[in-house]
Amino acid sequence: MAVDATQPYDDQNVFAKILRSEIPARKVFEDDWALAFHDINPQAPTHILVIPKGAYVSWDDFSARASEAEIAGFVRAVGTVARAAGLVAPGYRLLANTGTDAHQEVPHLHVHIFAGRPLGPMLVR
Ligand code: AMP
Repeated sequence: MAVDATQPYDDQNVFAKILRSEIPARKVFEDDWALAFHDINPQAPTHILVIPKGAYVSWDDFSARASEAEIAGFVRAVGTVARAAGLVAPGYRLLANTGTDAHQEVPHLHVHIFAGRPLGPMLVR
């Protein structure tokens, strides 16, 4: 079921549980601001999710409420993860679904990193 991005943060969401180590994840990166792990249902040869450590529902919530340090830390983490995975030369795609029309499923901000093959057109027409 798609997330209503205007709802308050639900600390029982699956990524909150990963942040609290209540459920496992195949982690690839962690610092003070962000955690990155492999998507459980990959849609490309490389499909990594990067999430902020703070409790933010979506890109909308994060961009409105996060501190400058949180925003800088998170954006740098996304770049660091992609660079460390060797994705800059072949190229990669970032995606952050927000709310119902975008089919956001997990109500904790996450940026998808897709790579590893030509990724095709941006959207299904
Ligand atoms: P979105 O539709 O943008 O909210 O994407 C949510 C993503 O989270 C999907 O690609 C799921 O496969 C992924 N996902 C859901 N649960 C887990 C989990 N426990 N570990 C890793 N990825 C997950």
